[in-house]
Amino acid sequence: MDKIRFATVWLAGCSGCHMSFLDLDEFLIDLADLVEVVYSPVACDLKHYPDNVDVCLVEGAVANQDNLDLLYEVRRKTRLLISFGDCAVTANVPALRNRLSESAAGVLDRGYLELADTNPQRPYAPGIVPELMERVTPLHEIVPIDIFMPGCPPSADRIRATLEPLLQGRTPTMAGREMIKFG
Ligand code: SF4
Repeated sequence: MDKIRFATVWLAGCSGCHMSFLDLDEFLIDLADLVEVVYSPVACDLKHYPDNVDVCLVEGAVANQDNLDLLYEVRRKTRLLISFGDCAVTANVPALRNRLSESAAGVLDRGYLELADTNPQRPYAPGIVPELMERVTPLHEIVPIDIFMPGCPPSADRIRATLEPLLQGRTPTMAGREMIKFG
């Protein structure tokens, strides 16, 4: 039987959701028998997201141009996309900057000009530092999402309860406190 082509992606998040994924402990060994990890910051250092991915967990919100480009690519090449954690589902912590200003320029000015003690200047590294989006947004405002898995981070139990049915060809039931409580 062909293994499921499995990926995880890290956008604008703290990597805590990926740390929770690693808390799956011995289930990771079971998982390794069933899936081929084709892209993940915790397992391989590929520069490009591959074609024909079956399942992908996407952590983090969309905060910059790199996040946006990667999310479009992931959606195009992935059969089942899971919005993984509160930052992906609601934009959560990265979106705190949305309250500060309607624009990325306003946020940068506040951080690098108004609050600078010495040498106020905007960071400038074209082609190296990706451009900030004007607003930080959750994934579903940009691409269709198949499954929402909230949590900051989602517990290992919740991750397992989501992935296990999927690996058996069933749809997980994302309902009830254990599966969809935020925070
Ligand atoms: S949902 Fe929480 S743990 Fe996950 S990336 Fe966001 S802040 Fe970190």
